[in-house]
Amino acid sequence: MSNLTQLNDRIFLIDAHDLGRKARTGSYIIKENKITIVETSASPSISYILEGLKVLKIDPNDVEYIIVTHIHLDHAGGAGLLLEHCPNAKVVVHPKGARHLAEPSRLIAGARAVYGKSFDTLFNPIIPIPEEKLIVKEDEEELEIGPNCTLVFFDTPGHANHHFSIYDPVSNGIFTGDTIGIYYHELVKDHIELYLPTTSPNQFHPEKMLESVKKIKALGVSAIYFGHYGMSTNVNDVFHQLTFWLPIFVDAGKQSFGKNPTASPSEHKNVIKDSILKEVTSFLDKRNVPRTHEIYEILGLDLDICAMGIVDFLQKAKK
Ligand SMILES: [Zn+2]
Repeated sequence: MSNLTQLNDRIFLIDAHDLGRKARTGSYIIKENKITIVETSASPSISYILEGLKVLKIDPNDVEYIIVTHIHLDHAGGAGLLLEHCPNAKVVVHPKGARHLAEPSRLIAGARAVYGKSFDTLFNPIIPIPEEKLIVKEDEEELEIGPNCTLVFFDTPGHANHHFSIYDPVSNGIFTGDTIGIYYHELVKDHIELYLPTTSPNQFHPEKMLESVKKIKALGVSAIYFGHYGMSTNVNDVFHQLTFWLPIFVDAGKQSFGKNPTASPSEHKNVIKDSILKEVTSFLDKRNVPRTHEIYEILGLDLDICAMGIVDFLQKAKK
């Protein structure tokens, strides 16, 4: 089944078809003694996860842990619904995210503000998770899921304050959610690796993001499992590109604010988006990616949201 990819002997990637897009948002299944799912995507994605479990001959009743890297809806929005299908599981979340999973009203309001009318199609339903089903993991806390596998959680803010990353000692890999950016699967068939930071509102913080990159780099991992999308073993390129692109993103914002201090947030957003898109286009031009390539559609959407987060960060920094 093309929605399921085996990454190594015990980790599988399910295409969760977030936003109705292929290879956009993934869920991971770790086949250990205690079956563990990392990331649920939004509720409309849950049927893909259940289908993946079926192909793997895993009974949903046997799922023990559902881990969400952070509580943005494209990573955790479906956790409540998935839990209804996996009644014996516990949901593992960052300490700053737990209360929002139990009481998702602020999460819903936040997403409605960003996604407007498309909210219902993209995210409904968002089901609260009973508090007794939640497990919170602080920085460097562990979770044993098999006789030889104890996962380690690392607090990794920058994209969001409620974000941790999960280290898997068996594959020497780490699940990074959105902390160290997006791996653009659209370019994989062209043998081009593009990793861009995701700086969406409203907790983006560039210095924290760089600190998190350093923290993850120091682990000496050999695989990175991205929220969007898939696994990269070219870890040095990931770290290199992240530290290359992040200042370009932030400088685009600083320049817009410097040149036109009285511009409105949406004017700044458009200037910032165009400026980043120009840089990324030049990067892709050099690699002979035609400007009609499908990558540009998704880049348009992503950089719009990224630019919003940069405006938000710079406005807060001014105060
Ligand atoms: Zn996110």
